[in-house]
Amino acid sequence: MISLATPVENLTKVGKTVAARLKRLGVFNVFDLIHYFPFRYDDFSNLKPIAQLQPGETATVRGKIELLTNKRSFRKKMMITECFLSDESGSVKAIWFGQPYITKVLQNGDDVFFSGKVEGELLSPAFTNPTYEKASADTTHTARLVPIYSLTSGLTQKQIRFLIKHSLSILSQIKEFLPDEFRKKHQLINLTAALGSIHFPENKERLSQAKRRLKYNELLSFHLQNYFIKKDVESSTASALEFREKETKEIVSNLGFTLTDAQKKAAWQILKDMEKERPMNRLLEGDVGSGKTVVAALAIAAASINQKQAALLAPTEILASQHFKTLSELLKPIDCRIALLTRSKQEVFKTKGQKALKLAKGKLIKAVAEGEIDLVIGTQALLQDKVDFKNLELVIIDEQHRFGVEQRKALRAKSGNSRTTPHLLSMTATPIPRTLALTLYGDLDFSIIDQLPPGRKKPVTKLVEAGNREPAYEFILEKIKEGRQAYVICPLIEESDKLGVKSATEEYNKLTEEIFPQLKIGLLHGKLKPKDKEEVMDKFTKGDLNILVATSVVEVGINVPNASVMIIESAERFGLSQLHQFRGRVNRAEHQAYCLLFSETAVEKSLNRLNVLVNCFDGFKLAEEDLKLRGTGSLAGTQQSGFYSDFKIASFADIRLIEETKKAAEELIKNYPEILKNFSPKTSFHPE
Ligand code: ADP
Ligand code: MG
Repeated sequence: MISLATPVENLTKVGKTVAARLKRLGVFNVFDLIHYFPFRYDDFSNLKPIAQLQPGETATVRGKIELLTNKRSFRKKMMITECFLSDESGSVKAIWFGQPYITKVLQNGDDVFFSGKVEGELLSPAFTNPTYEKASADTTHTARLVPIYSLTSGLTQKQIRFLIKHSLSILSQIKEFLPDEFRKKHQLINLTAALGSIHFPENKERLSQAKRRLKYNELLSFHLQNYFIKKDVESSTASALEFREKETKEIVSNLGFTLTDAQKKAAWQILKDMEKERPMNRLLEGDVGSGKTVVAALAIAAASINQKQAALLAPTEILASQHFKTLSELLKPIDCRIALLTRSKQEVFKTKGQKALKLAKGKLIKAVAEGEIDLVIGTQALLQDKVDFKNLELVIIDEQHRFGVEQRKALRAKSGNSRTTPHLLSMTATPIPRTLALTLYGDLDFSIIDQLPPGRKKPVTKLVEAGNREPAYEFILEKIKEGRQAYVICPLIEESDKLGVKSATEEYNKLTEEIFPQLKIGLLHGKLKPKDKEEVMDKFTKGDLNILVATSVVEVGINVPNASVMIIESAERFGLSQLHQFRGRVNRAEHQAYCLLFSETAVEKSLNRLNVLVNCFDGFKLAEEDLKLRGTGSLAGTQQSGFYSDFKIASFADIRLIEETKKAAEELIKNYPEILKNFSPKTSFHPE
């Protein structure tokens, strides 16, 4: 018997390797399997007599296998498996490449389903690599809406479907938590039914009901968490951090540039908040390159001058290291001990001594706990249980949409002091429309940096279609000869390539071998060791590399002002706001920036969409445009960047539902206080 807590390694057909792969997906036990939702479905529900198959359609047929054989292909050394499938109406040929084991799984005479796209001619239709399954009333891989999961290499769709189906046998152990009356009013199906149908939907209508219910769960819990945090903040006390004009001015005059009015205003609002005995709960929103880091530095300085600790959480190691360097520079005018704490790196910089020194992790953690460090900059590693502060009074979260509410809360809970709650500053270049931001973050105070530093020229943005690569490459070479640097961003193309290793490596090889053999090119993707990432990034920052080939995953927040050219490969795969974020990477200094959108598509709609970017430089407008053009439910662009870590199934494209659930959350708070008793921001609504 299995239970929700049964670890994956205890399931049938799961050995050590498969278990490790599942864990890579964040799936540790049966509960996780049930909550590992498909990202799309193959519609194989079109069951047809063989004689009626139409080339071009996706269909399922049922019949008996005949003439099943393996043979070796002529030119390639690949095995080809062939058979015919016959029903009362006719027969159809099927062929598989490189899957010789099929002759062991299937046998002549077997009664099976084949699902897939029909190829061949009207009179001789055929299937290539169809999905097959022995016929039964309850199919998993064929003859239905078939779930497609996001995978990691070494796992197959069939494997994960099998495991999920097995897990669903104990679905009844997951209890409904919403009152019947409330569900009826909001047209929400029962939770267990929804969890079953999200994986194996009976039909499309059922699927959309399941999605609605599960999105509701996520959004309700998001709104409720924010509500509880707000309530918590309102009733708790913070250290009032006095604003010191002299030191602040010293930092500002050390910058080498003047703050924009928008930066001044934001900094002022933040520093005023921090003077209060109520914890700040503020979101600093500003387009990429608008200069949020400096504003954060002023807040950190205020904490440090008041002898309190600050923590800055960043989503990637690269970004954390970069902040460490930048802030070490920015905070030089005051006496400040700054630490970098990531999984692979621990360093301390004392602005007075002006020297960075490496420290063993244990020592660093101890120094933090004893209050020897004023500012700790780190990644997720900061959230570990072991890390505790002596008097943490300011928490800053960079790229906050990359973190969940719970992670933000976890850091705040490390204050080392039960009397006060740290001030919280979240920073984002959130590419979402303003009205939506208000619904999502209405519980937070807002500061907006709505202007870029002076002298920045709008990045010249060009769409480069398939035939025009040559002149584009020549142009890049020219810019590099002028001393500039370039980024090449690669999209994730295959589901199995979650870290972008394959796409970035292929691009890197192409550039180094064929296109720019004379240049120094670096490669950055998610699978590199932190040390190697750091090294590549360092080289690029120093100008030792001409070109950096990177995946969309690692791009976030990088600041290399000398890089002024960016190529985005297969640009049509990204959302506009995301492309805009990438483009912000090359608009960080006074050099004219260029953003070349490479696209192989000839689809007019996609090209028109990309063209919007050519003339529009307003992140918020682009976000709205994205929604208009891509419609609701399109997660593709957001998945490319792991955009919203609070949501697995809902997305910021679900505007109407976000608003609806906000009201529903208020209704729960008002009318059903008893069910919220067990709800704490920590456990959320997902029963553990
Ligand atoms: P983001 O808001 O995207 O985090 P950063 O804080 O990384 O932006 O700043 C982008 C670049 O702009 C940095 O190189 C920074 O030094 C520079 N910068 C910030 N503020 C100003 C300003 N007022 N004038 C000129 N350059 C600035
Ligand atoms: Mg930034």
